[in-house]
Amino acid sequence: MKEWLRQIPPVHEIQRHPQILNVEEELGVSREKVTSWIKETLDQIRADLLRNQLTIDRATDFMDYVVQRVYEKSQDWKQYSLTEVINATGTILHTNLGRARLSDEAIQHVVEVAQNYSNLEYKILEGKRGSRHNIVEELIKEVTGAEAALVVNNNASAVYLTLRGLAKGKEVIVSRGELVEIGGSFRVSSIMEESDATLVEVGTTNKTHDYDYKSAINEDTAMIMKVHTSNFKVVGFTESVDKDILVPLANKHNITYYEDLGSGALIDYGESGIGDEPVVKEVLDKGAHLVSFSGDKLLGGPQAGIIAGKKHLIDHLKKHQLARVLRVDKMTLAALESTLKAYAKGTKSALHSIPTTRDIVKNVSEIKAQIMSFLERAEGLSLFSFQVQSSFSTIGGGTMPNEQLETYGVTVNCYKMTPSQLERQLRKLSTPVIGRFLNDQVFFDFRTLTPRDIDCLYNQLLELNQKLEVM
Ligand SMILES: *Cc1c(COP(=O)(O)O)cnc(C)c1O
Repeated sequence: MKEWLRQIPPVHEIQRHPQILNVEEELGVSREKVTSWIKETLDQIRADLLRNQLTIDRATDFMDYVVQRVYEKSQDWKQYSLTEVINATGTILHTNLGRARLSDEAIQHVVEVAQNYSNLEYKILEGKRGSRHNIVEELIKEVTGAEAALVVNNNASAVYLTLRGLAKGKEVIVSRGELVEIGGSFRVSSIMEESDATLVEVGTTNKTHDYDYKSAINEDTAMIMKVHTSNFKVVGFTESVDKDILVPLANKHNITYYEDLGSGALIDYGESGIGDEPVVKEVLDKGAHLVSFSGDKLLGGPQAGIIAGKKHLIDHLKKHQLARVLRVDKMTLAALESTLKAYAKGTKSALHSIPTTRDIVKNVSEIKAQIMSFLERAEGLSLFSFQVQSSFSTIGGGTMPNEQLETYGVTVNCYKMTPSQLERQLRKLSTPVIGRFLNDQVFFDFRTLTPRDIDCLYNQLLELNQKLEVM
């Protein structure tokens, strides 16, 4: 094959090829960009030829071959690296797949604010400089009953700011049963160390008593912190101390009682028979001085960390330099405002319009109906067979780990490949489809699929079916 080396066309000839000229126009890229793709491609071809790793059919026109490779390179470049996927895993808050999906209203609000100037830090009525802190604070107060609130980049930042702002150089008491690592490598002990607060561990992994807390309090104590053990549960011989005891204890010693709630439910999922996730408002009603939670877990909004509670503490945190470092941008605030508004309208509105809450309470008959209409269309997919199966979905995002939501889906078989080959092919589609395995077969859980997703899923399978039919 090495004789091909002498036949490699010069760059300027490739540049003039109609298909290459077209790339410039199609992608709206500069001639320099296309030239760099040509040069990279030629380098690769040269290297492949030298290593004898290139096999080209003798009948192929070499110029056509090179042009095709340059064209493929341009098409690869065109793809975004952050891309839509179809989540057929049934895990609603999949941290690897972007956690919460935003509601239609939230997306619209983001677009309006991103496309235009806004009053992000401007008081329209007074014509004066304002603060971005005010944009969603009233709504957070409304839905949580807090005196004040602050939004930062994510809940890990919220924990960090709270500890650094209120307990730097002081002691923070945490039960050993709550020193957890949470999805995405969040460790309370590490954040504590970074914040320069001293962690005082009390109790044991399975049991912590009120006297453990009492005897740990001294003049250096700034805070009692409770961490919601979102992603694991100690079962059996356990005991933890409730805020009914810890809040009065903190009050008596004039220290802060803070709960890192993690997922932060604004509605009581227990009423729908799902889990026992503490509701933010109830925790604050019981006297917690501060709580923090994520915006993109159970809340179903954008990535954000919300700190809510006593006004004097929030005011102190707002003034901290770190609040500026960890501030959120206007798109986050827009999405959060719309999401919180859905809660402020009432539980029914939240359950209806926020994708996360909607998927959590989605009932089995709706899931089954979606499957039936999918199967009707899927009959035309000659190389696939589907079988309806019941299973369980999880909420994910480290939220309510023990909660198994009854669900339905389909196991998928392809006559031309094994389940693991199929799973790989599905990930390579133009819109990747991420399913899971059930009894060693590829399974699509319909809980996390919207009608639009199902449309897209069908089209992707059709594409694959056509590709396989001619192979
Ligand atoms: C998820 C979680 C965090 C981290 O929140 P992010 O929004 O992902 O930064 C912190 N604490 C608890 C208890 C959590 O569940």
